[in-house]
Formats: sequence, C-alpha cells, structure tokens
Amino acid sequence: MFPALETERKQETLPDPYEDFMYRHLQYYGYFKDSLMLSSPLLRSRQLLFDELDQVNPRLREPRELFAFFSSKGTLQAPRWPIECEVIKESIHHIEWVPPQPEYFYQPTGNEKLPEIVGEEKGTVVYHLNPVPTEGSYFTSSRVGGKRGIIKELAVTLEGPEDDTLLFESRFESGNLQKAVQVDTYEYELTLRTDLYTNKHTQWFYFRVQNTRKDVTYRFTIVNLLKPKSLYTVGMKPLMYSQLDANIYNIGWRREGNEIKYYKNNTDNGQQSFYCLTWTIQFPHDQDTCFFAHFYPYTYTDLQCYLLSVAKNPIQSQFCKLRTLCRSLAGNTVYLLTITNPSPTPHEAAAKKAVVLSARVHPGESNASWIMKGFLDFILSNSPDAQLLRDIFVFKVVPMLNPDGVIVGNYRCSLAGRDLNRHYKTILKESFPCIWHTRNMIKRLLEEREVLLYCDFHGHSRKNNIFLYGCNNNDRKYWLHERVFPLMLSKNAPDKFSFHSCNFKVQKCKEGTGRVVMWRMGILNSYTMESTFSGSTLGSKRNIHFTIEDLKSLGYHVCDTLLDFCDPDKTKFTQCLAELKELLQQEIHKKFNERGEEVNLEGSWSDISLSDIESSTSGSDSSLSDGLPVHLLNIVDELNQKMMSKKKKKKPLQTRKQRNELHQKNKLMPEFKLTEDASDRAELAPTLQKQSTFYKTLENFRSSAMKNEKLSLSELNGGERSTSMDSKMTLILRKNKEKMQSKRPGFTPSCPQRGSTDSSQESAPESSQNFLCSFRPAPLENVVEQPELTISPCKLHCASRCPQASVGQR
Ligand SMILES: [Zn+2]
Repeated sequence: MFPALETERKQETLPDPYEDFMYRHLQYYGYFKDSLMLSSPLLRSRQLLFDELDQVNPRLREPRELFAFFSSKGTLQAPRWPIECEVIKESIHHIEWVPPQPEYFYQPTGNEKLPEIVGEEKGTVVYHLNPVPTEGSYFTSSRVGGKRGIIKELAVTLEGPEDDTLLFESRFESGNLQKAVQVDTYEYELTLRTDLYTNKHTQWFYFRVQNTRKDVTYRFTIVNLLKPKSLYTVGMKPLMYSQLDANIYNIGWRREGNEIKYYKNNTDNGQQSFYCLTWTIQFPHDQDTCFFAHFYPYTYTDLQCYLLSVAKNPIQSQFCKLRTLCRSLAGNTVYLLTITNPSPTPHEAAAKKAVVLSARVHPGESNASWIMKGFLDFILSNSPDAQLLRDIFVFKVVPMLNPDGVIVGNYRCSLAGRDLNRHYKTILKESFPCIWHTRNMIKRLLEEREVLLYCDFHGHSRKNNIFLYGCNNNDRKYWLHERVFPLMLSKNAPDKFSFHSCNFKVQKCKEGTGRVVMWRMGILNSYTMESTFSGSTLGSKRNIHFTIEDLKSLGYHVCDTLLDFCDPDKTKFTQCLAELKELLQQEIHKKFNERGEEVNLEGSWSDISLSDIESSTSGSDSSLSDGLPVHLLNIVDELNQKMMSKKKKKKPLQTRKQRNELHQKNKLMPEFKLTEDASDRAELAPTLQKQSTFYKTLENFRSSAMKNEKLSLSELNGGERSTSMDSKMTLILRKNKEKMQSKRPGFTPSCPQRGSTDSSQESAPESSQNFLCSFRPAPLENVVEQPELTISPCKLHCASRCPQASVGQR
C-alpha cells in the first residue's frame, strides 16, 4: 500500500514557492529537454544538484511532480512516526456503516458496579507499551514505520486453544492503549497512553482485542481518565467494531456496552485525581477481532485515501487543487485544498469572497473529520448548490491540522507537547508549523480578498449536540451579525444544532485560539464548531447517538447555510437579526430579574455589553496554554538560571575611594585598548553593538519569564523585540545542538534546513527532525558565539530527558 522508503525520503523537502516558480518557467521554456541551457545564470538556483566529488557536472533536481504527494501509481504517503514509537505492520481498515435503528443513550439502572482498581500487583499484565515518552522528554526525529527493527511482542502468548485471555493491541494509527491488566477471567483494567511528551490529556481511546469468546460478559475499566465530567455520565456508550460482523454482515462501528459508569478512581497519587470509565460487553463471535473507540476513528491514512480519490477524479480535480500547506514536526504533509470554479473573467475571480475551514487541530476529536468529510462530499459534488457555492466562493480547507497527533493517537496535543489551539499567535514557526502556516495562509488570503467565514471543527466531551463559539463584535454597524450564521444553521439543522449552546464571549484564556486570532485579523464570522462525542437532545433525534451520517450532514448544512447567509434577498438575514435582538432582550431581562433589578430597555439598550450578559464558555473543553513547546522549555529554564547566577555574582558595594579608583581606571582603559588593537576592535564593533542589544533583549526576556511562572507565549508575540528574541534564542539552541552533535562520533556538523531544497538530507533514512536545527536567522551568527550563553550540553542530553540520547546508541 505504501511506497518504499526511498520515495518517502524525497518527499522530505518542502515545496518552495521559488522552486515552484522556477520549475514552471523551466518547463514552459522546455529547459528540461536542453541540458545546454543549464549554464544560464537564471539557473543558479536550487534546481541544480552537485555531487560531492563532482563539482563540474551539475544535474537537475527531480521535477517537483515526481515527489508530489500522490504519485501516478496512486500510492499514499506513509505516515511518519516519532522514532521511539513501535508500529505494527498490519494496516487497519474499517468499513463505513450507518446503523438502521437509532442508537439510544444508555439508561442507567442504578445497579451499575463501580469496580475498585486492583492494579498490576494483584492482576496480570497482558499488554504494556514500553517505554512511553512522557513529560520531560521531547520529540526529536521521525521515521516511516516508527521504531526500527522487529517490534516487541507485547501481548501474552496463549497457552493453547482453551486459553481465552484477550490479546490487546494499539500500535496502529490513532491507537493509544498503554497497558491492560487482567484482574479476573473476563475483566480488564486499561491504562491509556497520555499525549506524547506530556503526562496529560487522556480521553480519546482506540484499541484492538483478539481471541474473543461469545456468550460471556467481559468488563473493561479505563482507569486513568482526567476529566471530572464526561458524557459517559449522561448516556454515552463506547463504540465497538467487530471484524467478523464487518466481513460477514457488512456491519461497522456501533454503540455497545452495559453497566456503563464514569466515576472517581479510588487510587490517589496525591497530586492528581483520576477517573474511571467502566462498561461490560458481550462479543458477537468467538475468535473475533474487535475494536473499541471513544468515537468513530478517522486516521491520517483515511484522509489521504480520500484526497487520493479526489486527485484521481477527473472532474473534482478540476476545481479542487491539492497543495502542501507545510510539513508537520514529524514531516507529515499538512494538506491545503483550494476549491473554486474557474471564473469567466479575472475581475470576477478577484471579486470572490473566501471561506476557510479546518479540522483536527485536536487529534482526538475525530468528529471534526466526519463533518469535514460531509462538507467535502457536498462541495465537490455536482449538485447545483455546490456549483453555485464554488462560483461565488474560494474555499480554503485544511482538513487535518495536526496529522502527527492523529497518527500517534494523541487527544489534544501536537508533538511539541502543546495544544495547538492555544498557540495561533505563535511566532515559533518551526515548533508550530501547522498553525503558523495556516495563519500565514489566511493572512495572505485577507490581503487578496474578503474572508466571509472561518470555522475550525472540533469535538466536545461534555455537552451534547453541535454548536458554535463565535466572537462578539464591537462595531455597532454589525451588531449581532456574528450570530446570524449560527442562528441560520440551527434553523437548518434543528435536530442536531443548538443555538442555545452557542457562545460569543471572547475570553482572555482563548486569545490563542484560531477563532479569536482570525477574528482579530478581521474575520467577523470566525467560529469554532463543537460537535458532541455523544448525540442529540433535540427534536426527533433526542437521546440518540450521532452516527457518521449525522456528522457528515452538518458539513452539508454548513454549505446550505452559507447560501442562506449570502442570499441577495436579505429577508432571511433581516428576520434572523430581528429574532436575535428579541432573544437578547429576553436574556437581558432574565439577567436583571435574577439580580432583582428593574431594567428599562427603552432607548439605548443595545449599548449593554454582550460579554456581561453571557456566561463564559465554561462548558468548553478548555485547556490553558502551557507556554513554550517542551523542547524549548528546558532550555529557557537553563537560561534563566544562568542569568540569575550571573546577577548574583555582582560585586558587593564598594567604598567611595574604591569607586573613584575604578572610575579613573575605566577612563584610561578605552584609549589604552584602542592603541593596542584598534583594527580588531573596528571589525568587532558591529558585533559588539549587536551583543549589547542582544543582552538587553535577553534581560527583558528573562524578566518577563520571571513574572510568569511559566513563560507565556503571548509574551513573545506581537513585539518586534520578542520576534528577534525568539530568533536569537532559537539560534543559540541550534548552535548548541550542533556543538553537541558534533561531539558525537560520525556526526556531520552541517545541519541542512528542513524544507529547503538545498537539503542533502534526502539520503538520510531518518528525518532528523529536531526543530533546533531548522531556525534560520543567519545574520545573527556572530551574536550567538558568546560563551556565557552556552547551555550545558549534558543537561540537554541527559538520558532521562532526551530520547535522542538513547536513540544515538542504537
Ligand atoms: Zn477541540
């Protein structure tokens, strides 16, 4: 299914706009046919490759199309994994299926057991991923297929056909089971792997069991969930998939489970509370392979299969252009789709408004992918409405913002160990490439045309239905306009979409979200779409779980609502606006009544701050920004300590006599120095100047870090000083990394920039993906050679902290 590693390596390079431009020109003028033309000065470009020993005969780099993401053979790009991750060779595939009967919420009987956690001391470990990179380690490099060599047998060996121990597995895309302990014949305690390089965010689960027996009741208990509240307390059932049912009856994922209970774990490590999810199940077949999941999985490979089908479709590929937005940290492609019909005139093309949609910034929220799929299915169809939408809009779609997280089975983070949806203001392009490039793409789009709507699709773990978070706008001219689209959507999908659950408050803690950042960039209709992991509480779908089809239908409703929203006949729009004012008036009355106050809404009632009326989005799946990516965090600590100790070494107060002596000495010193090595100093002058600015900046940086216990990224954003600081910081890191690496035997100090086509790393079997080596601000080279700023390499390479250390020995 996947191409050989060889092809994969070639895909390591980022498409470069310059390279692209050159290639097209070369192709246009037929340069590829005429090698003589290669001596043209125009071609002193990255198109030329020189072999190391042969400087005389350059050759042309392979045309870009040859390593475009979907080759002519129709092969997919195999996912790249962090090199410490073991991955099984089997490919996992599930059929798409919609249950013919509604799947009702679980109704508690009151007799559900709350199993006490026994632990591995009293049970038998039957599956254990080891070692798992958690907090304190950070991502270093990636590889197709993950860890090298034969992977360990983690499941128990069966003693014979009578042995009915379940065989667990999760080392596949989006899988995340860390440990299974058998605590009784048919009872298992399960531990989920936390998001890589963190010790948090357990929620999503997806694993496989084999060697099942029918007619017996199994119990599974996940023991390390972290959220106090869960939809499992209000009727949500886990999803199960039987391979035999799929093969024989064409049945796919379905809601299963009895005695479902979500409760606090009885074991307490003194620092953190854990929660358990327990359920019982009867498998439909003997000797079956079954899967369990928190929600319908949708993997990176699923996306690629879909995009491949679009790319191969002669009609769809006419109006849907696939491009690489960027590469993720692990080197996986982040795709950008541009969907629009060709316009008859350039003027009409320029007049089109844009719509930006994205999904899976949170990898464990596969709901988002299903809504996205529904949207794509519709917008790429030949329905007259879809054609009309393509006529009037340019759609920019990023269907999977965090492919690495999706691949490794994270719930919330990227491989930087951070929630990307708190870092949309980032300047750390190399640490957060996916969102940096998304923001940049939107920024460029805004320079070109109006962006009518931005919507980022998510999943919600504590509320039912589907709803939007938007941003109250302060411009009275467009008062309440941001609520029109959500209200229209609720009218178009009344059984699934809840306008009541929408919220438009812009909270401080959400400043780094895509929604708020895009709104601040000027997109009035900027939304986060939240869709439940469970189901609906509305209308005919009340108390029923959502199916894949329900979610996909939302993608269609987004399109449908866009047409309503842009209807030249403004009747619907005006009606909605009037209704919104009415709703708001009621809301204000309610608030004042609650406070026991009288309110007179005659006159300027619309001046009341909307944010005061609304409660915060406390129901949202918030996670606060954790600051810098983990690999930088250690280094900043290190730097802070250096600066602190440097400050402490200040000389004690001196007597007046001593100070006078020093003053005299200093007065004489410059003249003396100048006569001694004037020429050297002249050369050094610019450098020294830079150094002094650098120290000032560093001092500012340090004090700002001191103010906040954890260095907040927002501190780094916006200001020019911060920007250059970041570049400098990262350059120091790069230098240090290079120094450290050069000490290792067999290391070549040149550290090619990832994404540059100059890269010679195409031949490297592993993408040495430490972000440290890909920072670029070359003019500051001199500055970083300061010995005072050297970070102790041993700290960085401490085996317990850095997986690279152990990797190097392999
Ligand atoms: Zn989310």
